[in-house]
Amino acid sequence: MAIKTPITIAYGDGIGPEIMRATLKILTAANARIEPEVIEIGEKAYQQGFTSGIPDEAWQSLKRTKVLLKSPITTPQGGGYKSLNVTLRKTLSLYANVRPCVAYAPYVETAFPKLDLVIVRENEEDLYAGIEHRQTDEVYQCLKLVSRRGCEQIIRYAFEYAQKFNRKKVTCFTKDNIMKMTDGLFHRIFNQIAAEYPSIKNEHYIIDIGTALLAAEPERFDVIVTLNLYGDIISDVAAQVAGSVGLAGSANIGNQMAMFEAIHGSAPDIAGKNIANPSGLLNGAIQMLVHINQPDIATLIENAWLKTLEDGIHTADIYSDQFSKEKVGTAQFAEAVIARLGQKPSHFKPANYQPGAYTSIECYGDTLVKRSKKELVGVDIFIDNPTDIPASELAKRIATQKTPLELIVMTSRGLKIWPNSTIDAPYLRHCCCRFQSAKNIKQLKALNNADILSLLTQLNGLGLDVIKTENLYTFDGELGFTLAQGQ
Ligand code: NAD
Repeated sequence: MAIKTPITIAYGDGIGPEIMRATLKILTAANARIEPEVIEIGEKAYQQGFTSGIPDEAWQSLKRTKVLLKSPITTPQGGGYKSLNVTLRKTLSLYANVRPCVAYAPYVETAFPKLDLVIVRENEEDLYAGIEHRQTDEVYQCLKLVSRRGCEQIIRYAFEYAQKFNRKKVTCFTKDNIMKMTDGLFHRIFNQIAAEYPSIKNEHYIIDIGTALLAAEPERFDVIVTLNLYGDIISDVAAQVAGSVGLAGSANIGNQMAMFEAIHGSAPDIAGKNIANPSGLLNGAIQMLVHINQPDIATLIENAWLKTLEDGIHTADIYSDQFSKEKVGTAQFAEAVIARLGQKPSHFKPANYQPGAYTSIECYGDTLVKRSKKELVGVDIFIDNPTDIPASELAKRIATQKTPLELIVMTSRGLKIWPNSTIDAPYLRHCCCRFQSAKNIKQLKALNNADILSLLTQLNGLGLDVIKTENLYTFDGELGFTLAQGQ
């Protein structure tokens, strides 16, 4: 008898249980070699006091099976709860979110019948790290952290994915014309890794024009790789223009674990009515079968599903008078797919996942880079200035201090307010004072932490309310910070 792969199953909330039952019925009928272990996560777990929505037994099952097929979860309203999805992705190091977006015209309405692309989104870093602070009465910040390792891992994954799934081009989206260091790193690493895959075309767009093109001409894209927040936004744009929000599945991939799901939510408005479309979760399950090396079963199910669409057997969400023949419920749709196992579509290109071709894309982002010589050359000191002390007055007070550091520039939300500010009414309540070891950046000298601590003590003595410091470094003589506007 074939060895069965244990997988963890979460029935989820809202329509979750009915679409999971339908999906598992199809998997069973197709003889998928799986052994499901059911866990309870989501609404019930939140109510039992697990703030992440995930009880301990669920973690134990995930550690054992390393594969999760998950129905959507209802996110509780109100504070105190953590997003279950973000917790799962980060705790299990699921660094790649892989979302295929495909048009199923004419059966599912779309202006782009040839659309067939995959979005590979970085899943652990960027603004999604959730590092947020309130610094003053009026100012809040969210930190965007991007690591070389994180960029390498996701970009290499995108190229490996393109190679294995016979895709021809990888496009990178960043905003590196503005965020030159964080997005700049992503773009640079993209260029480096792209050079290792000469048979795959590569290109880069700034995220704004890239998103506009994705909405207006999505058929030009093949694989898109991007940072976490951009990836989140463009995934929905792509699913929307494909017309397949209700049909698309998504994979969250790590080197040790993986999670598969539908991209839609728990649809509480139609829960329990047997009208939900199970296709999104089924497509997630097809990605899972490829991942656990059952490409034969994935091919069998995808072809039966495509044939069901072609035969006009549709759930209410995609029903149309022109292309549908029969409106069916969730369970009946599953039966229709089961009845077509072994058949191939004639309008759509049949699926044909090759045995052994796709398993274990493992990317670690561990290219050794020579350790650079890091030197402390200055500090940005942020000040809460609720009484609007003018910048020139602050500068005058600071100038009286004894320190090897020199006040170079003062900015507010990135704009220069001292010296020689050209702004009529500068915002003074959140100031950043930039101190450097020399005015001229070519003459910067190494400092030590004691110099910064001494400066902070002196500013404290002046009654200034320091809310944050950010050290300024050079790396092998290269600036590790952007110059302030007007510096
Ligand atoms: P939703 O995707 O649940 O629903 C949006 C609309 O699409 C609704 O009208 C719904 O009836 C319809 N719809 C969704 N899936 C469908 C299906 N399979 N068949 C037919 N119609 C379908 O989005 P929402 O209403 O914004 O969110 C509902 C809940 O789901 C929220 O609590 C949200 O936080 C959660 N959610 C969870 C996930 C997840 O677990 N991965 C993802 C998104 C949203």
